[in-house]
Amino acid sequence: MADQNSHPILERHLFGPGPTNAYPEATAALGLPLLGHLDPEFLRILDDTCADLRTAWGTTNKRTLPLSATGSAGMEAAFVNTVGPGDVAVIAVNGLFGERMCDVAARAGAEVVRVDHEWGTPVDAQKVADAHPNPKVIAAVHAETSTGVRSDMAALGALKGDALLIADAVTSIGGIELCADEWGIDVGYAGTQKCLGVAPGLAPFTISDRGFERRIEKPQSWYLDLGMLGGYVGEATGGRTYHHTAPVAMVRSLHAGLKRVLAEGLENVAARHYAAGQALQDGLQEMGLELFAQDGFRLPELTTVKVPEGADSAKVRGYLLSEYNIEIGAGAGKFASTVWRIGLMGPNARPDSVALLLAAIKDALA
Ligand code: PLP
Repeated sequence: MADQNSHPILERHLFGPGPTNAYPEATAALGLPLLGHLDPEFLRILDDTCADLRTAWGTTNKRTLPLSATGSAGMEAAFVNTVGPGDVAVIAVNGLFGERMCDVAARAGAEVVRVDHEWGTPVDAQKVADAHPNPKVIAAVHAETSTGVRSDMAALGALKGDALLIADAVTSIGGIELCADEWGIDVGYAGTQKCLGVAPGLAPFTISDRGFERRIEKPQSWYLDLGMLGGYVGEATGGRTYHHTAPVAMVRSLHAGLKRVLAEGLENVAARHYAAGQALQDGLQEMGLELFAQDGFRLPELTTVKVPEGADSAKVRGYLLSEYNIEIGAGAGKFASTVWRIGLMGPNARPDSVALLLAAIKDALA
């Protein structure tokens, strides 16, 4: 029988839509001896993580915390805490994650008003604002990982009226500009495995006082009830109560990753992502490939490129994996076999990654 421990340790270049390779500081923190989840030292780390997340979000919201689950749980928390039966949720859909929002909001009982956009294009804020006279929430994805498109959350914030604005920042936090307060975001959720350069497992979350005051008092989810989670981080109530066992190792890893990002500076990190993304997109076009996302709205951290005529998408991806240890992503939805998604996130947003990718893709297409 094969020895279960004999698998080689593969070091992949994770250039797909996430997870990305982690910052070394974040990986090292995963190996630290465990602390108890109520140890004063751990509580200090958790508080400090919440403080650094406020900086990463661009918010002063006291209710800012890492939810103990992945980005989709952040999405779920955003909707179950703000909409219930009879509430109108206007949701911008320009990709897979906008679609997922509609499903999640409908399961929470909301009356969903979808505002569809062609995939590859950004959200039209006016069209969203015109979709319903008095929704309880409007929601959109800041950085659509399925298409590589950035949408203008500030424009939505300016037109939200009395509604709460929910923003998906899974693929923008720690990578490109994100100003939750300035843009009028009331509820935001994110993930750790993209530009923050930390393994998947937590969902950085923030909610304004305005959002919290209008929340559903007793949402159908016990685990994601923000009223109860206040005690978990202590911030909202001033006291700390047991809610669930904090994923201690993941929180420490996020803590270390955030320190790494903030030491570099959010503006510098964004500049690094823009430079790498631009260089990759220029290089791909110089090779004769066509980009998928609309010009002017392309994410630097996630490039979508059309699979060239005659190339087999899966074969090329397989070749990159076997010959270069490079993972890139297939397209999403109906573009699964006609688009590739190439991420340069966190520590991978560097010129050497760009050079490696361009050379490997050139070879794979030769
Ligand atoms: N929203 C966006 C924009 C994403 O890219 C993802 C994951 O790729 C999610 C939500 C869901 O996050 P997770 O897969 O961590 O649950």
